[in-house]
Amino acid sequence: MDKTAQSVWKNCLLFIKDNIQEQAYKTWFEPIQAVDLNDNALSIQVPSKFFYEWLEEHYVKLLKVALTKELGQSAKLLYKIKMENTYGNKLPFTEQIPSNNRQAVKTQEVDVPIVQKNPELKNPFIIPGIRNINIDSQLNANYSFDNFLEGDSNRLARSAGMAVANKPGGTSFNPLLIFGGVGLGKTHLAHAIGVEIKDKFPEKTVLYISAEIFTQQYIDSVKKNTRNDFIHFYQLIDVLIIDDVQFLSGKSGTQDVFFHIFNHLHQNGKQVILTSDKAPVDMQDIEQRLLSRFKWGLSAELHQPDYETRISILKNILYRDGVEIPEEIIEYVAKNIKSNVRELEGAIISLIAQSSFNKREVNLELAKHVVEKFVKNVKREISIDYIQKIVSDYFQLDIETLQSKTRKRHVVQARQLAMFFAKKYTKSSLANIGNQIGDRDHATVLHACKTVDNLVTTDKQFRKFVDDINKKLSL
Ligand code: ADP
Ligand code: MG
Repeated sequence: MDKTAQSVWKNCLLFIKDNIQEQAYKTWFEPIQAVDLNDNALSIQVPSKFFYEWLEEHYVKLLKVALTKELGQSAKLLYKIKMENTYGNKLPFTEQIPSNNRQAVKTQEVDVPIVQKNPELKNPFIIPGIRNINIDSQLNANYSFDNFLEGDSNRLARSAGMAVANKPGGTSFNPLLIFGGVGLGKTHLAHAIGVEIKDKFPEKTVLYISAEIFTQQYIDSVKKNTRNDFIHFYQLIDVLIIDDVQFLSGKSGTQDVFFHIFNHLHQNGKQVILTSDKAPVDMQDIEQRLLSRFKWGLSAELHQPDYETRISILKNILYRDGVEIPEEIIEYVAKNIKSNVRELEGAIISLIAQSSFNKREVNLELAKHVVEKFVKNVKREISIDYIQKIVSDYFQLDIETLQSKTRKRHVVQARQLAMFFAKKYTKSSLANIGNQIGDRDHATVLHACKTVDNLVTTDKQFRKFVDDINKKLSL
């Protein structure tokens, strides 16, 4: 019997299926259709350019082996991309295609009707009617540009945000990555951009989501076998805002799927806005290809606000709440809380509360008291010893056991948790943490952190341990 595109592909699939995980097979190979076999060149149709890139990146060797088995050494594979507005072919094994064959490839480019004529080839990325479903933006209207006060510390990020809001997807700031330390306004600015876009372009689908919730949704979708729906949903968004992407570090499954979604959105001129507590260069355990995407657009840093900006932020809050406080007190607060807008706000709100609920006069003494409380609270650093004590107590072990060489599972887990929290709450190096927790090396600590990250997402019981200990540590 003559070989057909379908029969060749069917045999390839049998081989591929045996060599990769079932879920990967379902996701990446089931949607493919064999469309043509011409002179040892098999054409397969894939749903999007992204899909093609993914296959090339992850499965090119496997495809090559499978195809060579079926068609011999001269086998070629051609991709047809279904999703894009323009239909074209990609040449994966380009080096194998002699120049006289390129002609043949070219003629296929005009072969578009294959896709359009056949009514059964539905575009898998368009779910009929879903456009009409109102996707709630999850935006907080209180975070606007109006009350995001401008200063040297945030001018670049703020104006880049404005530019994006005026022309989502239409600037070179795509993605726009806003990064900076805790409490410097990343979340506020990210919302403000979304709110402004919703205001200017009500028809656009805007979605704000924290990387943490995104991760949970993704894990849920894998459990419920609705991974594709998850992806499709996110591919419908016009403006996707993901807060705290550093949270994705070490979570390779979520990074994969985000890469997938990101590429799709970016290729379709959709806007992506990200925030992170670190610059891309400092992000750890984020895949290189994702980092390189982050750098495509603009990375804008939020710095610590200068004195002037701190004063105007404070005044703005007082004005908003209709409260008057002597100038010298405002200055006192602004002078003494420097590194974090959230704390600045906290202190002034606490002062306002003291004065209005307790009917106390806001004088310098009260201001000192409040500021001291804030500054002290913030400065308190949790030590590795303290962490070891809390973790040992929690598991009813003594510290010597925690540090011992025993491989008993519950002790190992406790030890790993101590390392994880030491990494999280102290500025110690991995080597130093290992040193203090039972004289282990830095690789052991790194492994511990990864293990905990993994278990937290897969094991409910374990997650409870982490939450409980977290609470104890942050009391
Ligand atoms: P981050 O996400 O960087 O940790 P947030 O966006 O949550 O910080 O900001 C912390 C608090 O500080 C928020 O209440 C926010 O409204 C306020 N804030 C930060 N920057 C500014 C600013 N430039 N003007 C006014 N408020 C600000
Ligand atoms: Mg934030």
